[in-house]
Amino acid sequence: MVRHSSRIELSLPALKNNIRFIRKRIGDHPELCCVVKANAYGHGTEAYIPMLEKAGVNYFAVASSFEAEAVHKVASSESKILIMGILYTQDLEWAIGNGIEFYAFHYDMVANALKVAQKLNRKAKIHLEVETGCNRTGLSENEFIKSLDLMKQQPDYLSFYGLCTHFAGIESLSNHFRTNRQYLVFKDFIKLCEKKGVKPKLKHIACSAAAIAFPDTAMDMVRVGIAQYGFWPSPDIYNMYIMEREKRREQPLKRVITWKTDIMDIKEVRKDEFIGYGTAYQAYQDMRVAVLPLGYSNGYARSLSNKGFVLIQGKKAPIVGLINMNLFMVDITHIPEAQINDEVVLIGKQKNNTISVSSFSNFSNQLNNELISRLPAAIPRIMVS
Ligand SMILES: *Cc1c(COP(=O)(O)O)cnc(C)c1O
Repeated sequence: MVRHSSRIELSLPALKNNIRFIRKRIGDHPELCCVVKANAYGHGTEAYIPMLEKAGVNYFAVASSFEAEAVHKVASSESKILIMGILYTQDLEWAIGNGIEFYAFHYDMVANALKVAQKLNRKAKIHLEVETGCNRTGLSENEFIKSLDLMKQQPDYLSFYGLCTHFAGIESLSNHFRTNRQYLVFKDFIKLCEKKGVKPKLKHIACSAAAIAFPDTAMDMVRVGIAQYGFWPSPDIYNMYIMEREKRREQPLKRVITWKTDIMDIKEVRKDEFIGYGTAYQAYQDMRVAVLPLGYSNGYARSLSNKGFVLIQGKKAPIVGLINMNLFMVDITHIPEAQINDEVVLIGKQKNNTISVSSFSNFSNQLNNELISRLPAAIPRIMVS
């Protein structure tokens, strides 16, 4: 097999550690459903799902029927899959036929599911997603009552697996006036179910931030995304955790991913010359520069131009000039021992230095999610244990 220009290593011990930490936060009762949308946040569904199963997780949530199919191909037959987003009517037969659970966020989805379930003589496993204030997807109270009545009439074909909603940014403390209200509205929906005499198998609302910082919200299940991969949902959540621990210095979450490439070429550049396209970087002295064989088309964000670092021989090498489509350059003037083909760490640890994803931007934790979830599917993923 020909070689790709970069590679991703996934640490099984780190993943097991993160799952243990999350389990400790939420206690024994709630189901732990791991969110593996967007190719497992860029970690790679094919390699990552078996690792989660090794870590004792067998419940996976995705954003579409397309992603569900990818997970279904590699998951063991006992594992459960939940679609939290787009499920086209044409794919209902596949989903119900394969016992895939799914969100319904308008009445027609429930009505269509009934038709397909009757045709297949199977039960549709439905999670009713309710609107509590995110104003994204979710059933209004009227649509919810209509859907619930249909589910009540058709217990042989429609199974009430879940009652759920999603916090509109519980990562940020400044948004809590809003998420607190969502929690109360959700509890009203629970009361409505009780009044109607129907009981969902699982009530769930918590994402990573809620599961870590507000374990009360765990209810019957948590849907944990970013934390399982070893990233804090936000500085607010990290600070809350640290405060609760009374400043004990510990790092309970461990990064699962390491991203590596190698030096493709080395250049001597004279003082005052420009490096790469345009005039983005001018050599302030005679410099030695390493060329790396990947760029923004390979998932290395163009916004990192002239910012950030990679690791070579355990030392930080700063990016010089623009990130190109398939190449970028780093300064190795201070690393004379560096040679062509040397290992380069883009994310992760090398000797005593670490490049964390968040170090790419101290201003936006969004970049964490965006950068890792965009890592191209073509990069090979290897489990390390
Ligand atoms: C992405 C997602 C999650 C997971 O969020 P994290 O903050 O990554 O834990 C949970 N629920 C829904 C509906 C989502 O879309």
